[in-house]
Amino acid sequence: MCGIVAYIGKKEALPILIDGLKRLEYRGYDSAGVSVFSGGKIITEKAVGKVVELENKINGRDIPGKIGIAHTRWATHGKPSEKNAHPHCDCGKNIFLVHNGIIENYKELKADLEKIGHKFSSDTDTEVLAHLIEEYKKQVPIKEAVWRTLAHVEGTYGLAIIDRNEPEKIFVARNGSPLVLGVIDDGYIIASDIAPIVRYTNQVIYLEDGEMAEVTPCGFQVTNLKRKKVEKEISKIDWTLEEAEKKGYDHFMLKEIMEQPEAVENAMRGRLVVKEGMAKLGGLRDVADSLRDLERLVIVSCGTSFYAGLVAKYMFEEYAGIRTDVEFASEFRYRKPILNQKTAVLAITQSGETADTLAAIREAKNKGAMTLGIVNVVGSTIARETDAGVYNHAGPEIGVASTKAFTSQLSILALFTLFLGRQRDMSFVMGKRIAEELAKVPELMKKIFKDSQKIKKIAKKYSGSSDFLYLGRKYNYPIAMEGALKIKEIAYVHAEGYPFGEMKHGPIALIDENFPSVAIATRDSVYEKTLSGIQEIKARGGKVIAVATAGDKSIEKLVDDVIYIPKTLEMLTPLLSVVPLQLFAYYFAAGKGLDVDKPRNLAKSVTVE
Ligand code: GLU
Repeated sequence: MCGIVAYIGKKEALPILIDGLKRLEYRGYDSAGVSVFSGGKIITEKAVGKVVELENKINGRDIPGKIGIAHTRWATHGKPSEKNAHPHCDCGKNIFLVHNGIIENYKELKADLEKIGHKFSSDTDTEVLAHLIEEYKKQVPIKEAVWRTLAHVEGTYGLAIIDRNEPEKIFVARNGSPLVLGVIDDGYIIASDIAPIVRYTNQVIYLEDGEMAEVTPCGFQVTNLKRKKVEKEISKIDWTLEEAEKKGYDHFMLKEIMEQPEAVENAMRGRLVVKEGMAKLGGLRDVADSLRDLERLVIVSCGTSFYAGLVAKYMFEEYAGIRTDVEFASEFRYRKPILNQKTAVLAITQSGETADTLAAIREAKNKGAMTLGIVNVVGSTIARETDAGVYNHAGPEIGVASTKAFTSQLSILALFTLFLGRQRDMSFVMGKRIAEELAKVPELMKKIFKDSQKIKKIAKKYSGSSDFLYLGRKYNYPIAMEGALKIKEIAYVHAEGYPFGEMKHGPIALIDENFPSVAIATRDSVYEKTLSGIQEIKARGGKVIAVATAGDKSIEKLVDDVIYIPKTLEMLTPLLSVVPLQLFAYYFAAGKGLDVDKPRNLAKSVTVE
């Protein structure tokens, strides 16, 4: 995820582009750059860090020009640095472009282009686009060259392209990454979303996947992959600026909950090979042989990421046969961890900067263990310091309480299970089954959202409760912990997460009519046992909200409220069962008017020990 802005018209482009980037910064902020057509040349400036760093670098210098493109980056390929910041250009320095998305086959394309003499100046996937266009332009006009390039690439893109030889045009195209064209009196402003546009106009055109627009100062034409003209309707937007950044949601947290299907899709893109029942994890290629000999994995993480690790323990042990221990990173380094050559230490962290996790990884390295990372922020310290790893590609998570980063971690862990399992004795048939079910998860998640209003009502019904017990067994035990953590974090109510079987060894004493329980009771290998646990609560007058499998009508007689989730493989259930718990916590807290995105006493990334 990143932010793109482009302008073409009668006004000075630079101020519009810089202002637009600032409004898109929530989409990514590791580096920024801008290219402006100025006096027959294209002038480019880039800087590492937030947009203000770019502004400082330009330092009030006038770069006159009425056409330009700009980008605020959320690195996926190549660490955040000036050379990797967009816009990127071709060898001839004629074609400049900004890109949001991932070009999956960039490695092959780059190798081919290098063979025929192209010189690359960044580590990004994006740069191949500029060189491919340059190559095709030797035979056909720029527009056709862009089409041919797009036909050649696999992956996702929102793109804005300028060519020094076509000073009156911007080409924009989309596939999987959003692009909106704002129609203003004397030109056009194009952006990843409407946040940079609303201050100029409420008239917009939404580009669809497979469409390209050729935009000039006085008009635009949209064509599709078949080079056919597409008539576009102008839509009217009625959002305020602030609403626009949150895509109309009241809070970033709700927006991020709703973005989970996309986050899971992005985690799997180019990695899940359904027909082979395999996962290709490029970041693990160099250590693949050592992983084959691995006898034990130690996962170190904190908070929500810790619960992702707990789910992974069940996955790795059941499907890859690897003994897995999960440790709070903050405890790991103060014990005397027993590690050897056949043990790898895996850090799971959204920010890649969590101080406790970093300390644990450094301790593991000191002891000579192989270190791995599952990290969302590209180029972060943990991503750099681990021997190998996998990026989430979940995009920036702004809400302090983690949601989409968590389900994205679970998706990567499922891919990792496939990878390790198939290296060992997991059969092709089992691999294929897991891969097929994993591929369906984004669609299944969307089905849960249809019940959002029902979940909101249930949250309202329990709004007077100041304590909750969250219970789940096996794969859903970590989800019970995560559900409890969510409501603690954002609603400041007391909640305990427990493995259901443990309830009778203590917490059951808490149960009375004022102490409701949230029971995850999906149809899986421990369903019957879970039902017995629910009976025990009911026998003591406790209220129960159940998360159950769609179609399980019988549970309605047993509990007070039911939220249904679709059926999936048992090991993938956590990806779905956590969603209603996130929504429940969200509506519970939002209903009380609490600052859901910035809960008291918490920070997004905990960089102190
Ligand atoms: N894949 C591109 C990069 O890493 C674009 C990432 C983005 O969407 O910001 O530079």
